[in-house]
Amino acid sequence: MTVVGIDDTDSRERGMCTTYVAARIAQRLRTDESATVSRLLLVRLNPAVEYKTRGNAALAIHTNCAPDRAFALAREQLEILSETGDERTNPGLVVADGDPSESGVPDDVSRFASAAIRDRLEIADAAALLERHGYRSWHAGNGRGRIGALAAIGARSALSEWTYEYISYRESDRWGTPREVDRESVFAAADEAYPAVWDTADRGEGETVCVPHTPGPILHGIRGDDPDAVRTVAERIESEPVADGRLFVTNQGTDVHLRDGSLETVEDGRAYRLEGRVVSEPETRRGGHVFVDLASPTDAPADGGPADDEPESGERLVCAAFEPTKRFRDRVRALRVGDRITACGEVSRGTLKLEKFAVRDLVRHERVTPTCSDCGRTMESAGRGQGYRCRDCDTRAAKKARRRLERDLEPGWYEVPPCARRHVAKPLVRGGFDAPTHPER
Ligand code: ATP
Repeated sequence: MTVVGIDDTDSRERGMCTTYVAARIAQRLRTDESATVSRLLLVRLNPAVEYKTRGNAALAIHTNCAPDRAFALAREQLEILSETGDERTNPGLVVADGDPSESGVPDDVSRFASAAIRDRLEIADAAALLERHGYRSWHAGNGRGRIGALAAIGARSALSEWTYEYISYRESDRWGTPREVDRESVFAAADEAYPAVWDTADRGEGETVCVPHTPGPILHGIRGDDPDAVRTVAERIESEPVADGRLFVTNQGTDVHLRDGSLETVEDGRAYRLEGRVVSEPETRRGGHVFVDLASPTDAPADGGPADDEPESGERLVCAAFEPTKRFRDRVRALRVGDRITACGEVSRGTLKLEKFAVRDLVRHERVTPTCSDCGRTMESAGRGQGYRCRDCDTRAAKKARRRLERDLEPGWYEVPPCARRHVAKPLVRGGFDAPTHPER
């Protein structure tokens, strides 16, 4: 078995797409070399990496072609197809001998793949491993693409959870022109195959999520848990002519980028699942972005929110639901000081960009300035540490009163809608969560 890993062929402005390059290499392996291609792997790497064009994808092709032939053919295709006119495109190719599953991949290559999904790596890290294992490799530009290419080689053994995407490609003379895809057929096919097929469309926003807006060769990509179901949905969509279609095995929709962490230990450029207590009222700022602060969940006050004048201490982490997360922001706005949640998302410049959160414990009461039992008016402070009093009636109360809060949230998981989903983030409808879920579709 031979594994061909490739990455970094496309440009935001000029187009192209590494999945397309992989599909072309697979095609040529079959036609020119009479080889069998057993699998195309589409691996989403750390979404926080700043060098990415869009979705930080790397590709691996599993074939029985001889390594030297596969290398020559893949290199030729990369040289033809990579958009190296963009100085930020730095293609890389790595070819390895051996079974891509656990037994055939060295431990350090598996670990490299895991690190590429959850951490930031250096080009030198990839170069050192390539040398140690004697893998054939080629690169252009600064060679950064070798990071993703090597990660794609190690991914099959490093990861255990896989999903599918069936990608349909456009005829090349249409690239860069508006896509002709019948919306109704997308919604109908999506409805029929849900939940085995997910994130095809966003009903709430009326968006056909499976159809990209970029200038590249993809017409649509259908994601799901079942290879036959994603293919069937793709076939049911009415559109301009489809030039070609390919099934990819992927780590999309698996949350494999998340690591368990704590507020005290978060670092930029990584994605976390962490526990926290809401310590600020959610605030909507310019641009419609919603922010809320979390503190460590330990020594949280009892139901009713923070006690009078309770000083907040310890680490705080700002969490954000940005405008593109649309209706998810209403969920974040519904949080109250004192709620306990599990927050998931990438930390960038000290802010956690929320992808999903679980409500663990909801505050059901709030503390309010007491009202006078005689006249019904709101009391005033009677001075520092002396409680409250009604100036007119001279009634007194030692502390704030508890008032029941109506809540728009329930315990369990909430998520961004499909239109705002990161490729690697797990949709709630896929299941396996530790609390009830409130899936978006
Ligand atoms: P597309 O989704 O359209 O294929 P992309 O978003 O995958 O584009 P690339 O053009 O592949 O973006 O650029 C990502 C670059 O970052 C590649 O060179 C890849 O090797 C590198 N890279 C990926 N993961 C890491 C990481 N964890 N640390 C450092 N570099 C990384």
